[in-house]
Amino acid sequence: MKCRVCKESAVIDIRRHNANFCQDHFLRYCRQQVEKAIHGFDMLKPGDRALVAVSGGKDSLAVWDLLLELGYEADGLYVGLGIGQYSDNSADYTRAFAETRGLNLIEVDLRGDHGYDVPTAAAVTKRVPCSACGLSKRHLFDKATLASWDSDDTTNDRISSPSGAIPGCCAVVFITARRECA
Ligand SMILES: [Zn+2]
Repeated sequence: MKCRVCKESAVIDIRRHNANFCQDHFLRYCRQQVEKAIHGFDMLKPGDRALVAVSGGKDSLAVWDLLLELGYEADGLYVGLGIGQYSDNSADYTRAFAETRGLNLIEVDLRGDHGYDVPTAAAVTKRVPCSACGLSKRHLFDKATLASWDSDDTTNDRISSPSGAIPGCCAVVFITARRECA
């Protein structure tokens, strides 16, 4: 298996694109795909500030890393869902990621800050955990985005939000991890 670009030994086979890449060209490919999506969907403009909702998994942390590499100002938002050891580990990964890079991480803890967690909310509302989890997060993302904007001196008149337009708010990149809902 050889890299499509340099013909060196490949480390990944992306079947959907019928392409293999070495590590270096895979990272470049990811960056190009993110840039293409940002421009194609008019998600962010140069100088925009993003609040990246991170789960602690590789997908959302990679997006945070890529946005910074592409020159955007990006803070992280981590929501502790109270799903036992899984949530503890996710929080540790996220904190370590932010600390080693000197990044600003906003943390919200459902149980400590709001008095409930996802398993409890699911039981009380008789919703499946995925549904309770999704509702909690959308509400908290919007709230954190508004708070982030309120504390900012600069005016930013663009918005890209998971649940629709919030006038005058900074951008949110909305990332979900399917394994969170297991
Ligand atoms: Zn290569």
